[in-house]
Amino acid sequence: MTLSVLVIGAGITGMATAEFLRREGISATLVDKVYPGDPKQTSFGNAGLLASSSIIPISSPKVWKKLPYFLFNKNSPLSINWSYLPKLMPWLIPFLRNTKKENFLSIINAIQELTNDSVDQHLTLAKGTRASKYIKLGDLTLLYPDKSEFDLDNFENSLRIKYGFKMRELNRDNLLDMDPFLGKNYNCGALFENHGWLTSPENYMRELANHFKRNGGKIIIEEVKKITGNKVLTSKNNIIKADKIVICAGAWSGKLLKIINHRTNLETERGYHLQLKKVNYMPSNPYLVSDLKFAITPMNDGLRCAGTTELGGLEAKPNYRRIDILREGIKKVYPRLKWEDEEIWMGHRPTTPDCLPVVGQSNELKNIYFAFGGQHIGLTIGPRLGRILTDLILNKKINMSLDAYKYTRF
Ligand SMILES: Cc1cc2nc3c(=O)[nH]c(=O)nc-3n(C[C@H](O)[C@H](O)[C@H](O)COP(=O)(O)OP(=O)(O)OC[C@H]3O[C@@H](n4cnc5c(N)ncnc54)[C@H](O)[C@@H]3O)c2cc1C
Repeated sequence: MTLSVLVIGAGITGMATAEFLRREGISATLVDKVYPGDPKQTSFGNAGLLASSSIIPISSPKVWKKLPYFLFNKNSPLSINWSYLPKLMPWLIPFLRNTKKENFLSIINAIQELTNDSVDQHLTLAKGTRASKYIKLGDLTLLYPDKSEFDLDNFENSLRIKYGFKMRELNRDNLLDMDPFLGKNYNCGALFENHGWLTSPENYMRELANHFKRNGGKIIIEEVKKITGNKVLTSKNNIIKADKIVICAGAWSGKLLKIINHRTNLETERGYHLQLKKVNYMPSNPYLVSDLKFAITPMNDGLRCAGTTELGGLEAKPNYRRIDILREGIKKVYPRLKWEDEEIWMGHRPTTPDCLPVVGQSNELKNIYFAFGGQHIGLTIGPRLGRILTDLILNKKINMSLDAYKYTRF
């Protein structure tokens, strides 16, 4: 009989897992509260970057130097919702411990294992589907205000180079050759070749889902409330059975692990996007603005400014002051930019205290598997996590150790 697998969560991680399983002849079902491409998914509103070289976790030793600015400046790209602090502590303390240099370096090594072929992984996932037209190949440039700010990132950029990413240093003239619209606040760049981005993350997700369904995959729009043995119970009191169950519920995965008495340490880093529509200028490639910690991505439906981090949990309402920060930020990069319309959005990055995802099989319940915790690069590594889980479920050889990503490490 054909093996059946139920994947809970149809964001990029679950979608890729279910699609790769389907391609292997497995009877794959996705269950989610919403259809892929819905604004409630983090995979809907991200910056769309297939950011292979984004291997530096936010738990960097530099955090300590910038902590007072992060905590007490209202325009800082990182903010904490103070009323949430007591609940945040069990995550925050180990997170700060991971800023030790040796931890930082081993985390980078484990991140690059997942990102190094991410553009190829997305091309493979999208091949033969209508999603492929939303992948664009190009360079990714980190923008710096000046040479001294660029030099402050020398260590991080040298690590990127060490792991094989090709970097070109750009001065003001090089930047203007590439992008004459750039304002005078940014005078240095680090350009990384061979990257990619999505011109519409929402349509990419939707087309992957449509393809999955058209080719025999099943999608059930219901919320999972309970998992027992090889069954799940949904909000509509339906019972879905499968030989194996995979938890890919993004920032909500912790709640599902609790139901099956498994411990994890997952928080959410809330992030925002401001999409500028009918703009008078579009760059040809995306940017990461190093000091303001947001991305600028040219998309089909406008220029998306996305990023910043807010530690405030899953339940708090969006804080639209964060959107003002993005609006002020884009004006700093492009003082002459004009637009006619805006779309705003808030989403939940799933993040562990070591910024590494949880990937693998439960020790106690052998039919349960996990893939969540993609943090700032969850879109980039989604297909890779899907491939790893597919190989694990099919008992295929995986050419890397999964020790760094075990759920038992916390
Ligand atoms: C502002 C911002 C910018 C970003 N930019 C980038 C970027 O440029 N590049 C990049 O690589 N990453 C980026 N990210 C991160 C990336 O978007 C996420 O890490 C990634 O989308 C997580 O994917 P996921 O599938 O794990 O989770 P999600 O996309 O959130 O999907 C989880 C799914 O699980 C479902 N679910 C939860 N609980 C249940 C339940 N009980 N029953 C049924 N379904 C359930 C949810 O409805 C949801 O659809 C960004 C994030 C933000 C916020």
